[in-house]
Amino acid sequence: MGITLHGIGIGGGVAIGHAHVISHNEIEIAHYGIAEEDVPQEISRFDAAIRLARQELETLWGSIPEHAPAELGAFLSLHIMLLNDHTLTAEPHLIIEAQRCNAEWALKQQLDILLAQFDEIEEEYLRERRSDVIQVTDRIFKALAGHHIQPPAPSRPDSILVAHDLSPADMVLFKDTHYFAFITDVGGPTSHTAILARSLDLPAVLALRHAQALIREDELIIVDGINGVVIVDPDEQVLVEYRARQSDWQASQRALQDIRYAHPVTRDGVEIELLANIELPDDTALALAQGAAGIGLFRSEFLFLRDEDDLPTEDEQFDAYRQVAESMQGHAVVIRTIDLGKDKIPKWQEESDSPNPALGLTGIRLCMAETQLFRTQLRALLRASAYGKIKLLVPMLSNLNEVRQTRRHLEEIKEQLAAEGLPFDAEIELGGMIEVPAAALTVGAFLKQLDFVSIGTNDLIQYTLAVDRNDDAVSYLHDPLHPAVIHLLHHVITTADRIGKPVAMCGEMAGDPQLTTLLLALGLRRFSMLPAQLLKVKRRILDADLERLQQAVPALLLAEDANAVRTLLADL
Ligand code: PEP
Ligand code: MG
Repeated sequence: MGITLHGIGIGGGVAIGHAHVISHNEIEIAHYGIAEEDVPQEISRFDAAIRLARQELETLWGSIPEHAPAELGAFLSLHIMLLNDHTLTAEPHLIIEAQRCNAEWALKQQLDILLAQFDEIEEEYLRERRSDVIQVTDRIFKALAGHHIQPPAPSRPDSILVAHDLSPADMVLFKDTHYFAFITDVGGPTSHTAILARSLDLPAVLALRHAQALIREDELIIVDGINGVVIVDPDEQVLVEYRARQSDWQASQRALQDIRYAHPVTRDGVEIELLANIELPDDTALALAQGAAGIGLFRSEFLFLRDEDDLPTEDEQFDAYRQVAESMQGHAVVIRTIDLGKDKIPKWQEESDSPNPALGLTGIRLCMAETQLFRTQLRALLRASAYGKIKLLVPMLSNLNEVRQTRRHLEEIKEQLAAEGLPFDAEIELGGMIEVPAAALTVGAFLKQLDFVSIGTNDLIQYTLAVDRNDDAVSYLHDPLHPAVIHLLHHVITTADRIGKPVAMCGEMAGDPQLTTLLLALGLRRFSMLPAQLLKVKRRILDADLERLQQAVPALLLAEDANAVRTLLADL
């Protein structure tokens, strides 16, 4: 009888395949020597990692829901027991002392010894405990390093990746692998991990809490990314039902292809602009294939997360921006300047000990503090602007000075380029992201200095409702239909219309087909989303009657809570 786990569905349909449980043991383990006087310090680093891993397991143990399967408690207690065993906790001390090596290398050697012993065991139950040892050491490696996971290649054509956590940086690396689906224990619905998962258009479920502990290597699992359900070791009847759901989903996807070349026009003849969000230059192919009229958001910071050690140089950035501009064949490309910080932290920034990164040096604030980094990017962007229609977009604006200073940098760099005889678009447009409530409320002042704005609802909701978008414990509060959000959106859109400057939306709300009619009613005419969402939203636009939708606006603005908005939406 299978186990059913519930999490946050990221979409992408249904997958049936075999689990490939990844662990940090699959990362390249660093090996380096240490001085004799550093041995005690290395041993305490190792002990601290053991303590952290134990703490994590004890917290998990304390949070087991009442109705959780009994296996869960058994797994966790076995893992805690292993963590208390001297073969894992004390033997590596001896290796560090004898070989004067780093803790990771000592642990790796001890793990190899243990795994070799397991391989000789004939009794099946005991041999299966091998994966428990791997999972426990995985926790210790993670506590020691906090490195990004290097994705191992899928072991079979129908491999489903099972991981405890994947950072946005891990996800970028996953773009090049070919998994069938994937699931993780943690993650919020608009976290960057979720956004990247959606961009891969694979069935995915996040925030499953105990999947990595419960699922065994090679086990048959069903991933229902639509409903956020994972079924482990399903019986034949369940398999038959999910195979049927899988083919329904595939049929609905095929039907959407019929509108690939249709113009996004409402039933009453209003043209809507549908743009794509991308993370890496190669994503433009998918954007074009899904009929995007341009790129509404290129999250350029992902170029900075690809290589752990080196920042992309000006020339490397120039090549990437030029590639995007050229491949979009004359369509406009909005490139967002570096938006690092919060959950997108490259190796060189990991040292930062900001007490609250989401309210710290992030987005444009980091660029204002690291002007060399910012100016190098602006130079690369301006140089690339000679090869296509590039527009700039500044993230995390909260203060007008950030716009003034960005303009000053831009003008200085234009002068430099002109003096060097390098071509660039002297009229390049500068836009700003509206994703902090302060900027939303004073958008009129921002629009006097900007050429356009784009609403980043992922952060706007996070900051308006004080809900961490990465924390699945509060994801039930991350509600795009909260009246505070509706009022801010309405204010930003109507103010931009009154001033006569373009306003787009590039947060996940724009790509959610369930919200298309609401956004059309609020006056939005430019939507930017992951390519995988474009046709679903276009379907809604083709069916929409704007005149009727607009009549609902007064009632929407009077709604007192999200449920009232939801009820009104159901009738739209
Ligand atoms: C947003 O905040 O809505 C947005 C589009 O930016 P990001 O998701 O990259 O923070
Ligand atoms: Mg944002």
